[in-house]
Order: sequence, then structure tokens, then C-alpha cells
Amino acid sequence: MTPTLKLWIGGEEVASAGGRLGDVFDPALGQVVRRVHFAGREDVARAVAAAEAALPGWRDTPPLRRARILMRFRELLEAHRDELARLVTEEHGKTLPDAAGSVQRGLEVVEFATGIPHLLKGELSEDVAKGVSCHSLRQPVGVCAGITPFNFPAMVPMWMFPVALACGNTFVLKPSEKVPSTSLRLASLLGEAGLPPGVLNVVPGDAEAVGALLAHPGVSAVSFVGSTPVARHVYETAAKAGKRVQALGGAKNHAVVLPDADLDLAADALIGAGYGSAGERCMAISAVVAVGAAAEPLVARLRDRAAALRVGAGTRAGVEMGPLITAAHRERVRGLIAAGIAEGAVPVLDGRALRVEEPTAGFFLGPTLLDRVTTSMSVYREEIFGPVLIVLRVGSLDEAIALVNANPYGNGTAVFTGSGYAAQRFEREVQVGMVGVNVAIPVPMAFFSFGGWKQSLFGDLHVHGAEGVKFYTRTKTVTTRWPEPSAATAASLAMPTL
Ligand code: NAD
Repeated sequence: MTPTLKLWIGGEEVASAGGRLGDVFDPALGQVVRRVHFAGREDVARAVAAAEAALPGWRDTPPLRRARILMRFRELLEAHRDELARLVTEEHGKTLPDAAGSVQRGLEVVEFATGIPHLLKGELSEDVAKGVSCHSLRQPVGVCAGITPFNFPAMVPMWMFPVALACGNTFVLKPSEKVPSTSLRLASLLGEAGLPPGVLNVVPGDAEAVGALLAHPGVSAVSFVGSTPVARHVYETAAKAGKRVQALGGAKNHAVVLPDADLDLAADALIGAGYGSAGERCMAISAVVAVGAAAEPLVARLRDRAAALRVGAGTRAGVEMGPLITAAHRERVRGLIAAGIAEGAVPVLDGRALRVEEPTAGFFLGPTLLDRVTTSMSVYREEIFGPVLIVLRVGSLDEAIALVNANPYGNGTAVFTGSGYAAQRFEREVQVGMVGVNVAIPVPMAFFSFGGWKQSLFGDLHVHGAEGVKFYTRTKTVTTRWPEPSAATAASLAMPTL
């Protein structure tokens, strides 16, 4: 019997009203390992009602008490790290060390959230006019929704709900239907940590559940992470309905390598950033921009390292790269490789030739390296989200910066150089939200904020860190006067000034 996952509403597992079910695969086996209830409109309404009912009690819980529940949750995450990593690997396919690392990055957001009482403090100015003071408060926005992608089953949900909860909001999480187990397990661990029922609810499902959340008048704010077309749709729909929204989209991240860089360091970093998690990371480096004389020695180093990568089930010791998420996605990536070669890219390493001995039915694809790619080719224009590194060759740093800035995405980028001058110019001029200098995956720590520019983010505020706290709170400004009871008063119709 295939196990079946349900929804998590009001602190307990519940079946969906419509009974619609989806398949959850283990991509390394290529087999369905469990089924999951899909939330429909009625279930989403039930989850929002549970979050609304829990809101007054949670909002009025002192911030430090809320933080203490997150402290206990943090301890449980630590204790269950291996179990959570196994769930991530089983449904996503990434290797166990990679999965454990992603759990750790989520845990760090929980650690940040335990300090949020400090960031909820307002400001006060006395005597802004005679006998008048002014102070500000940060208050929760209400019921918040989170909609998350398949590629980080633990980390991306934890970019959102720990911060929202610490700020006094209640939450409805709609995880990717491809990887629902981790979110459901996180919700039950939060219950164990003492979170009152209804404060966090989980409604696995597809576009129907998303549509219901975006249309529900009880939802005040929406955080989304996923592909750009869906991010744009979520942003426009939620904003039109008067909701606050941050929608993080897709990416095409460039690493510029200058001839004065340490090419061994650059090649090692690019192999990790290009092929880690089989390229299914929004901060994966997918385009290498080799400047001048860097190209030949860099491509040789990338080829040697990529060809030596061990591909297989993420649970196996020593395996460095797991499968892709679905058979359909693997076909899409294979098609993009074929199109790139047909358009003139040079296949230095073609992962379509990979043969994995066991298990054979998994959605594996080998590391691919395409050289002499140009900006007009489909492998450059499209987000591949697979183990494909493309190399573009340019003549100068100016050309490299112009190339990166002409791309419609602006999530992450990196420069590899031995020159402080070049690094400083790159940092200053590049139109991208997260920049690495001799660091290929510049994912900000939890106490900074994560987010891209251009078509990688619709909205204003990035996730976690101080911007996350701003997103999940509303500012109220209070002007106060306590006049002497006997003081004379007089009406004035003029605009009050000092
Ligand atoms: P996706 O856009 O297909 O799905 C994301 C979420 O939206 C899922 O919960 C899904 O159920 C839902 N969804 C899908 N289609 C929908 C539709 N038509 N209407 C409403 N909801 C819909 O993304 P994915 O394939 O799960 O994840 C991969 C994408 O996410 C990549 O593009 C990647 O770059 C991006 N991503 C971005 C970041 C970032 O921080 N910018 C982080 C991780 C992933």
C-alpha cells in the first residue's frame, strides 16, 4: 500500500474535502513512493479560517514567548536533521549532505527569528511639538500565505514561516505538490515545540490551491518562490486583490571569470555551483562568462572536473549529483541540450550519454558542458534548471558586465578575479540582487535578506533578515498629547505646524 499524506489544518491531519490525490515520486527510483491529498477551495477556506481563529491569541502572545517556541523548534530541527534530510532526498533527489545543508540554512532562519523581538521595537521622539510625542509600532499583518517550489523542500518554507510567526502572524503554507512531506513534518515538529493549533497550516496542492489562497479575502500577505511566469501571475493577482506580496522568480546566474583569477579555485567553485543539486537551485551558476585568455584553461579544468563527478541515488555514499525531479523535466533539459548543439554550441561534455548502473529507472542526466554559447541560443535565453553549464566567451570586463546586465533575470552572479579594482567595479555596476566575489553561490546569511532584481523578484522586499520582518509587519505611527487638564484650548482650522 502506498502511504497517503493529508493536509495539516488546526494542528491535525485532515483529508481534503474533494479527495483529489497526487503522486509523489522518488526521482532516484523513478517510482511513486506516496500519494498526497490536494487541497481544493473548500480546504483552503478551512485552513484560512483556522489561521484567522488562531490569530488574536498568537498576535497577543508576548514576542519573547513566541520566540521561545521557535527556540524549541530549533532544537527539534537539530535533533531531526537526518530524518528531514532523508525526506528531502527521497522526494527531491539531491544528495544527503546537500539536503542536510539545506535543512541547516533553514534552521539558521529559525535562529534569526528567535531574535526578532529586538527588530519589532518601535521608535519614539519626544517633544515633536510642545507637549507632543510621536512613536511607531510594528504590528503583524494577519494571515499570511506561503507558496513554495520543489527544489528546496525544507529551506524555502523556512525562509518564510519562522519570520512571519515570530512577527505575530498566522500562516498557511502551500508547498510544492512534488515534495510535500518535509513541510508536513516541519508543521508537526512545530506542534511538538508548543505552537498553538491553527497558527501554521499546510495545504499541499497545485494551482487550484494557489488560486484559492490568492482569492481569499482573509489572506493579507503572500510570499511566493518559484518560476518567473507563476511569480508574475501571483504578484499581479495578489496585488490586484489588495494583498501585500513578494514573489521570487527564476534565474539565469552568470559567473564572470577574468584571466587574473585563480582558475583552480574558480573551476572548483563553478562545478559545485553548476552541478550541485543537479543544477536545480535558483542560485545555481548556469552561465560562465570567460574573459579573454581565461577561456581555454578554464574550460579544460571544468571538463576534467565535471567528467569525474559521481552521479547516482542521493542516498548513496560518495555520490555527488542526484537525479532531476521528474521524467518530463529531464526530457526538457535533454531537448535544450540538443537545441544548443544544433544552434552551434560545442558539446565539451554531453550528459545525455550517461548510463547509471543502478537504480536504472531514476531521472538521471549527466553533467553537461557547452562551450562557445552565444546570447541568441535557447540554452542561454532559457532557465535550464538542470546539470548544464554553458560557457560564453567575451573580450573584456566591460563586455562581461554588459552581457550580465542585458539578461532579463537578476538573481545571483559572481566574479572571479585577483583584482580588487575589477571586483569593485563589478559589484557596483552589475544589475543583480546577490553578488559573489570569488564566491560562486552568494546566498546571504539569515540575518541579511535574500532576493533578486528584475524578473527574479516581483515586489519590493526580499525574504528573511530585516526586509523579511518589514514584509510581515505593518508600521503604525502614533502622535500623543496629554495636556494639563486645566490648559486653555482653541480650535484652529489651519494645517498644524510647529
Ligand atoms: P513553479 O513555478 O512551477 O511552482 C512553484 C509553486 O507554484 C508550486 O507550489 C506550484 O504548485 C505552484 N504553481 C505551479 N504552477 C502554477 C500555476 N500555473 N498557478 C498557480 N500556482 C502554480 O516552480 P518549481 O518548478 O516548483 O520550482 C523551480 C523554479 O523556482 C525555478 O524557476 C527556480 O529558479 C525558482 N526558484 C526561485 C528561487 C528564488 O529565490 N528566486 C528559489 C527557488 C526556486
